[in-house]
Amino acid sequence: MRLRNITGSREVIAESPFVVPEAELFDCPGTWHKIFGNDQPIHIEIGMGKGRFIHTMAKEHPEVNYIGIEKYSSVLLRAIQKMEEEELPNLRFIRMDAEDIAKVFAPGEVDRIYLNFSDPWPKDRHAKRRLPSREFLARYDLILQPDGLLEFKTDNRELFDFAVEELAPAGWHAQEVSYDLHRDSRLMEGNVMTEYEEKFSAMGNPICKYIICR
Ligand code: SAM
Repeated sequence: MRLRNITGSREVIAESPFVVPEAELFDCPGTWHKIFGNDQPIHIEIGMGKGRFIHTMAKEHPEVNYIGIEKYSSVLLRAIQKMEEEELPNLRFIRMDAEDIAKVFAPGEVDRIYLNFSDPWPKDRHAKRRLPSREFLARYDLILQPDGLLEFKTDNRELFDFAVEELAPAGWHAQEVSYDLHRDSRLMEGNVMTEYEEKFSAMGNPICKYIICR
């Protein structure tokens, strides 16, 4: 998702109390519990888009701290606006490229990772940019606690098949795999729809989901 450049979005982000300043990000490893002021588990969504999923999750689970990560300022701005309408103490945002994720969290500091409707990067030569690729799984391996889980949803069957194939070479395995999440009443328990999930499921596309661990 890339929205039209919005004038002033960088300034709004720089001044927002909900966004961890970019200049301080590489000082953050090991300090996230201090940033939230409690010892609650930390769940992150990488590529959160406009933030609907993570905002709803944070509202429904006040016992968890959430961090939404988004590459583009114009998109992050929408998530900030949502927070201004309804402030939540257990939600923060980061504007960054997730390639640097292991520089922002200490080993094992994250308890769960969500990837929702990640960009497909269809060309083979761009496979390394896909968020469920083995290169990214190696980065997640560094920051996720040993028993931590990663959940991924998409309607893109090619991307999902790729993601499943990446698991074994990266040393991960699936606890759950569904090729039609919305017809799986057990996996749908507590499911929070993302913006893309709402749009594509309304078009009749089945939603794929896995939950993986090492
Ligand atoms: N997760 C949302 C949803 O399901 O509605 C948004 C999905 S959108 C297709 C993917 C989002 O991931 C975009 O907003 C994009 O900017 C962001 N993104 C893609 N690659 C990223 C990266 N390397 N680091 C951070 N964000 C990224």
